[in-house]
Amino acid sequence: MLRLVGVYKTYAPPYHALENVSFSVEKGEFVFITGPSGAGKTTIIKLITREEIPTKGRIFFGNHDISRISPRKIFLYRRKLGIVFQDFRLIPYLSVYENVALPLIIRGKKKKEIQRRVNSLLQEFEIVHKAQDLPSSLSGGEQQRVAIARAIAGGPELLLADEPTGNLDPFLSKKIMKIFKRLNLKGTTVVVATHDTSLVEEFGGKIVELSYGKIKRVR
Ligand code: ADP
Repeated sequence: MLRLVGVYKTYAPPYHALENVSFSVEKGEFVFITGPSGAGKTTIIKLITREEIPTKGRIFFGNHDISRISPRKIFLYRRKLGIVFQDFRLIPYLSVYENVALPLIIRGKKKKEIQRRVNSLLQEFEIVHKAQDLPSSLSGGEQQRVAIARAIAGGPELLLADEPTGNLDPFLSKKIMKIFKRLNLKGTTVVVATHDTSLVEEFGGKIVELSYGKIKRVR
Protein backbone atom coordinates (compact mmCIF):
# COMPACT_ATOMS: atom_id res chain seq x y z
CA MET A 1 0.00 0.00 0.00
CA LEU A 2 2.76 2.38 1.00
CA ARG A 3 6.46 2.23 0.19
CA LEU A 4 9.28 4.58 1.12
CA VAL A 5 12.39 4.05 -0.97
CA GLY A 6 15.70 5.67 0.00
CA VAL A 7 14.00 8.73 1.47
CA TYR A 8 16.02 11.72 2.65
CA LYS A 9 14.62 14.90 4.15
CA THR A 10 17.00 17.75 4.73
CA TYR A 11 15.48 20.87 6.25
CA ALA A 12 18.78 22.54 7.10
CA PRO A 13 21.78 21.15 5.20
CA PRO A 14 24.01 19.33 5.89
CA TYR A 15 21.90 17.82 8.67
CA HIS A 16 19.44 15.15 7.49
CA ALA A 17 16.17 14.87 9.43
CA LEU A 18 15.76 11.56 7.54
CA GLU A 19 18.55 9.63 5.91
CA ASN A 20 18.02 6.76 3.48
CA VAL A 21 14.76 5.58 5.02
CA SER A 22 13.09 2.62 3.32
CA PHE A 23 10.19 0.54 4.57
CA SER A 24 6.82 -0.57 3.38
CA VAL A 25 3.34 -0.86 4.83
CA GLU A 26 1.16 -3.65 3.47
CA LYS A 27 -2.59 -3.34 3.16
CA GLY A 28 -4.20 -4.32 6.45
CA GLU A 29 -1.03 -3.91 8.51
CA PHE A 30 -0.72 -2.13 11.87
CA VAL A 31 2.60 -0.28 11.98
CA PHE A 32 4.28 1.71 14.73
CA ILE A 33 6.94 4.26 13.87
CA THR A 34 8.92 4.75 17.01
CA GLY A 35 12.02 6.47 18.32
CA PRO A 36 12.94 9.29 20.69
CA SER A 37 11.96 12.92 20.17
CA GLY A 38 13.73 14.34 17.11
CA ALA A 39 14.21 10.92 15.48
CA GLY A 40 12.11 11.90 12.44
CA LYS A 41 8.67 10.39 13.16
CA THR A 42 6.63 13.52 12.41
CA THR A 43 8.69 14.12 9.28
CA ILE A 44 7.72 10.66 7.99
CA ILE A 45 4.02 11.34 8.67
CA LYS A 46 4.29 14.74 6.91
CA LEU A 47 5.94 13.11 3.90
CA ILE A 48 3.18 10.50 3.68
CA THR A 49 0.47 13.17 3.85
CA ARG A 50 2.32 15.23 1.21
CA GLU A 51 2.70 18.14 3.57
CA GLU A 52 6.43 17.82 2.85
CA ILE A 53 8.27 16.40 -0.17
CA PRO A 54 11.39 14.20 0.15
CA THR A 55 14.71 15.89 -0.62
CA LYS A 56 15.68 12.59 -2.25
CA GLY A 57 13.99 9.21 -2.66
CA ARG A 58 10.45 8.19 -3.45
CA ILE A 59 7.19 7.45 -1.69
CA PHE A 60 4.62 5.26 -3.36
CA PHE A 61 0.96 4.93 -2.40
CA GLY A 62 -0.11 1.90 -4.41
CA ASN A 63 1.65 2.47 -7.72
CA HIS A 64 1.61 6.24 -7.50
CA ASP A 65 4.66 8.29 -6.63
CA ILE A 66 2.96 10.79 -4.33
CA SER A 67 5.61 13.46 -4.96
CA ARG A 68 4.27 13.64 -8.49
CA ILE A 69 0.65 14.34 -7.58
CA SER A 70 -0.15 17.81 -8.84
CA PRO A 71 -0.99 20.31 -6.09
CA ARG A 72 -4.51 20.59 -7.53
CA LYS A 73 -5.10 16.88 -6.94
CA ILE A 74 -3.62 16.46 -3.48
CA PHE A 75 -7.07 16.73 -1.91
CA LEU A 76 -8.14 13.59 -3.81
CA TYR A 77 -5.15 11.67 -2.45
CA ARG A 78 -5.81 12.96 1.09
CA ARG A 79 -9.39 11.69 0.98
CA LYS A 80 -7.95 8.18 1.20
CA LEU A 81 -6.20 9.12 4.44
CA GLY A 82 -7.41 9.71 7.95
CA ILE A 83 -4.92 11.94 9.72
CA VAL A 84 -4.59 12.59 13.45
CA PHE A 85 -2.26 15.60 13.67
CA GLN A 86 -0.02 16.10 16.67
CA ASP A 87 -1.50 19.59 17.12
CA PHE A 88 -5.06 18.33 16.34
CA ARG A 89 -5.87 21.07 13.78
CA LEU A 90 -9.53 21.19 14.67
CA ILE A 91 -11.42 23.96 12.93
CA PRO A 92 -11.82 26.60 15.63
CA TYR A 93 -15.12 28.12 14.47
CA LEU A 94 -16.90 24.77 14.02
CA SER A 95 -18.47 22.82 16.87
CA VAL A 96 -17.20 19.39 17.92
CA TYR A 97 -20.10 17.81 16.02
CA GLU A 98 -19.33 19.81 12.86
CA ASN A 99 -15.61 19.00 13.02
CA VAL A 100 -16.33 15.27 13.14
CA ALA A 101 -19.02 15.57 10.44
CA LEU A 102 -16.71 17.37 8.02
CA PRO A 103 -15.11 14.34 6.30
CA LEU A 104 -18.60 12.91 5.75
CA ILE A 105 -19.95 16.18 4.34
CA ILE A 106 -16.94 16.38 1.98
CA ARG A 107 -17.70 12.85 0.80
CA GLY A 108 -21.29 13.87 0.04
CA LYS A 109 -22.97 11.60 2.62
CA LYS A 110 -26.66 12.04 3.43
CA LYS A 111 -27.65 14.04 6.50
CA LYS A 112 -29.21 11.02 8.27
CA GLU A 113 -26.11 8.91 7.76
CA ILE A 114 -23.89 11.76 8.97
CA GLN A 115 -25.99 12.14 12.14
CA ARG A 116 -25.85 8.43 12.87
CA ARG A 117 -22.12 8.12 12.30
CA VAL A 118 -21.11 11.30 14.16
CA ASN A 119 -23.29 10.52 17.17
CA SER A 120 -21.96 7.01 17.40
CA LEU A 121 -18.34 8.28 17.23
CA LEU A 122 -18.98 10.97 19.84
CA GLN A 123 -20.45 8.32 22.13
CA GLU A 124 -17.60 5.92 21.56
CA PHE A 125 -15.09 8.65 22.45
CA GLU A 126 -17.13 9.91 25.41
CA ILE A 127 -17.42 13.47 24.10
CA VAL A 128 -21.10 13.44 23.18
CA HIS A 129 -21.87 15.98 25.94
CA LYS A 130 -19.51 18.44 24.19
CA ALA A 131 -21.06 18.06 20.74
CA GLN A 132 -22.17 21.69 20.44
CA ASP A 133 -19.07 23.22 22.04
CA LEU A 134 -16.18 24.86 20.20
CA PRO A 135 -12.81 23.08 20.32
CA SER A 136 -11.24 25.95 22.30
CA SER A 137 -13.45 25.14 25.31
CA LEU A 138 -12.22 21.53 25.46
CA SER A 139 -9.29 20.07 27.37
CA GLY A 140 -6.26 18.75 25.45
CA GLY A 141 -7.39 15.17 25.89
CA GLU A 142 -10.92 15.99 24.69
CA GLN A 143 -9.58 17.80 21.61
CA GLN A 144 -7.42 14.80 20.88
CA ARG A 145 -10.45 12.50 20.97
CA VAL A 146 -12.33 14.83 18.59
CA ALA A 147 -9.31 14.80 16.26
CA ILE A 148 -9.29 10.98 16.27
CA ALA A 149 -13.05 10.75 15.73
CA ARG A 150 -12.73 13.12 12.75
CA ALA A 151 -9.83 11.14 11.29
CA ILE A 152 -11.79 7.89 11.24
CA ALA A 153 -15.24 9.34 10.41
CA GLY A 154 -14.81 9.10 6.64
CA GLY A 155 -13.66 5.46 6.71
CA PRO A 156 -10.08 6.06 5.47
CA GLU A 157 -7.99 3.42 3.66
CA LEU A 158 -4.97 4.46 5.67
CA LEU A 159 -5.12 5.96 9.15
CA LEU A 160 -2.07 8.01 10.14
CA ALA A 161 -1.66 9.19 13.69
CA ASP A 162 1.16 11.32 15.09
CA GLU A 163 1.48 10.81 18.86
CA PRO A 164 -2.28 10.18 19.15
CA THR A 165 -2.08 9.48 22.86
CA GLY A 166 0.22 12.37 23.75
CA ASN A 167 -2.32 14.19 25.90
CA LEU A 168 -4.18 11.21 27.28
CA ASP A 169 -3.81 9.32 30.54
CA PRO A 170 -2.76 5.63 30.35
CA PHE A 171 -6.38 4.42 30.56
CA LEU A 172 -7.56 6.56 27.63
CA SER A 173 -4.38 5.84 25.68
CA LYS A 174 -5.15 2.14 25.82
CA LYS A 175 -8.75 2.76 24.88
CA ILE A 176 -7.70 4.72 21.79
CA MET A 177 -5.21 2.03 20.80
CA LYS A 178 -7.94 -0.58 21.15
CA ILE A 179 -10.17 1.47 18.84
CA PHE A 180 -7.32 1.64 16.30
CA LYS A 181 -6.83 -2.13 16.63
CA ARG A 182 -10.52 -2.74 16.06
CA LEU A 183 -10.49 -0.55 12.94
CA ASN A 184 -7.43 -2.43 11.78
CA LEU A 185 -9.19 -5.77 12.24
CA LYS A 186 -12.01 -4.43 10.08
CA GLY A 187 -9.51 -3.69 7.29
CA THR A 188 -8.11 -0.18 7.82
CA THR A 189 -4.34 0.05 7.51
CA VAL A 190 -2.95 1.95 10.50
CA VAL A 191 0.35 3.80 10.98
CA VAL A 192 1.00 5.29 14.42
CA ALA A 193 4.03 7.45 15.27
CA THR A 194 4.81 7.39 18.98
CA HIS A 195 7.73 7.65 21.37
CA ASP A 196 5.71 5.64 23.92
CA THR A 197 7.48 2.28 23.95
CA SER A 198 5.01 0.77 26.43
CA LEU A 199 2.19 1.15 23.87
CA VAL A 200 4.39 -0.30 21.15
CA GLU A 201 5.24 -3.35 23.25
CA GLU A 202 1.63 -3.91 24.32
CA PHE A 203 -0.05 -3.41 20.95
CA GLY A 204 2.63 -4.93 18.74
CA GLY A 205 2.30 -5.03 14.95
CA LYS A 206 5.19 -4.05 12.70
CA ILE A 207 7.62 -1.72 14.41
CA VAL A 208 9.83 0.71 12.47
CA GLU A 209 12.46 2.01 14.89
CA LEU A 210 14.17 5.30 14.08
CA SER A 211 17.27 6.80 15.57
CA TYR A 212 18.63 10.19 14.45
CA GLY A 213 16.71 10.01 11.19
CA LYS A 214 17.91 6.54 10.25
CA ILE A 215 16.17 3.21 10.46
CA LYS A 216 17.59 1.33 13.41
CA ARG A 217 15.55 -1.77 12.76
CA VAL A 218 12.21 -3.03 11.44
CA ARG A 219 10.63 -5.88 13.35
P1 ADP B 1 10.06 13.43 15.92
O1 ADP B 1 8.67 13.48 15.39
O2 ADP B 1 10.61 12.03 15.97
O3 ADP B 1 10.20 14.13 17.23
P2 ADP B 1 10.70 15.31 13.78
O4 ADP B 1 10.38 14.63 12.50
O5 ADP B 1 9.73 16.30 14.30
O6 ADP B 1 11.02 14.18 14.89
O7 ADP B 1 12.09 16.03 13.62
C1 ADP B 1 13.26 15.40 13.11
C2 ADP B 1 14.39 16.43 13.03
O8 ADP B 1 14.11 17.40 12.02
C3 ADP B 1 14.58 17.21 14.32
O9 ADP B 1 15.97 17.42 14.51
C4 ADP B 1 13.87 18.51 14.05
O10 ADP B 1 14.43 19.56 14.79
C5 ADP B 1 14.10 18.70 12.56
N1 ADP B 1 12.98 19.44 11.92
C6 ADP B 1 11.68 19.05 11.87
N2 ADP B 1 10.93 19.94 11.18
C7 ADP B 1 11.78 20.93 10.79
C8 ADP B 1 11.63 22.14 10.03
N3 ADP B 1 10.43 22.51 9.53
N4 ADP B 1 12.72 22.90 9.84
C9 ADP B 1 13.93 22.54 10.31
N5 ADP B 1 14.16 21.41 11.02
C10 ADP B 1 13.10 20.61 11.27
